[in-house]
Amino acid sequence: MIPSVLPTYTRAPLSFVKGEGSWMIEADGRRFLDLGAGIAVNVLGHANPVLVDALTEQAGKLWHVSNLYNIEQQQALADKLVDQSFADTVFFTNSGTESCELAVKMARKYWHDKGQPNRVEILAFHGSFHGRSSAGIAAAGGDKLTKGFGPLLPGFEQLPFGDLEAVNASITENTAAVIIEPIQGEGGIRPVADEDLRELRTICDEAGILMIFDEVQCGVGRTGKLFAHEWAGVTPDIMMVAKGIGGGFPLGAVMATEEAASGMVAGTHGSTYGGNPLACAVGCAVMDVVSDAAFLDDVRRKAGLLRQKLEGLVASHPDVFEEVRGSGMMLGLKCKPACGDVVKAGYDNEVIVIPAADNVVRLLPPLNITDEDIAEAATRLEAVAVQVETAV
Ligand SMILES: *Cc1c(COP(=O)(O)O)cnc(C)c1O
Repeated sequence: MIPSVLPTYTRAPLSFVKGEGSWMIEADGRRFLDLGAGIAVNVLGHANPVLVDALTEQAGKLWHVSNLYNIEQQQALADKLVDQSFADTVFFTNSGTESCELAVKMARKYWHDKGQPNRVEILAFHGSFHGRSSAGIAAAGGDKLTKGFGPLLPGFEQLPFGDLEAVNASITENTAAVIIEPIQGEGGIRPVADEDLRELRTICDEAGILMIFDEVQCGVGRTGKLFAHEWAGVTPDIMMVAKGIGGGFPLGAVMATEEAASGMVAGTHGSTYGGNPLACAVGCAVMDVVSDAAFLDDVRRKAGLLRQKLEGLVASHPDVFEEVRGSGMMLGLKCKPACGDVVKAGYDNEVIVIPAADNVVRLLPPLNITDEDIAEAATRLEAVAVQVETAV
């Protein structure tokens, strides 16, 4: 008999009932160190008092009103995002994949309104992930996401990861945009080199096509900059955000330049929930903390600390871990045994890490994880390595 919850997930036998900072408490009382943060979502940890206050204060006033009206919290959050980024304008969604939907629509509408309605094709990359909606799976491609869900939304082509020659060779008079994660998350923490992102910007500029960054996982302070692309010193035309922006409340956004957004006039797009007062009150509180220069400095400092520990782990357990990759608090450990075994050993040692493609386990801790908890993470991951080693 089918379970009452549609069985699309393979779930670990764990039920968390409470969270405190970087810790999650299981129903049986065990305390797990959370290096996954709900997959890069709980950027300020669990039950952060600042976010609890923002949420409960707003909950007592007004949860939801339609986008038929002005929403003060939405305006405030849009202003913060515009102030702190390349973007001139923001649309709020409830998830990453909804942000993908709009990014794709925006790029196509842009060309339609420019009198080039043939430009509908979007170049993407193997190993990417843009969510589970029809546009999201068509953009990322690959059997794992798309098999059985045809007919797929047309107009996407996947190129080898990081292959800029392939980008050059694939641009035609029908190309609308390139979509890329500055650091692939689900794909196994695979960063695009800064010089390659810059080169990609040049390629897009020369061809006159739009560049879409998917910063759903790598954005919102994750790499120690507010947005990951800041490291390369280039900006996109359109950017997808979600995950961390709500700190655990479902919230996403599409940020864009005035030019790229020029086709999205009144009536062209909408969302019932997107940008509602409750979500945006929390989003504002997240942004106030995460966009602070001193906070980001500290993320970079602590990320250095964590990375150092992980490098040590790789050096002392070469049969378990091959290398550390990633940036800031978006780190991956390439595993030698199946990464699922490492994740399971993590459960045994009460430390949460997240599996990814390319046999990598991801570490995406809360950005405000303490130095003490980083030291504890190293201790527990050491125990994980020993356990996996012994099992081999
Ligand atoms: C998680 C993720 C998405 C999809 O976000 P949802 O909120 O699950 O729809 C899209 N892109 C990237 C890079 C992601 O990591």
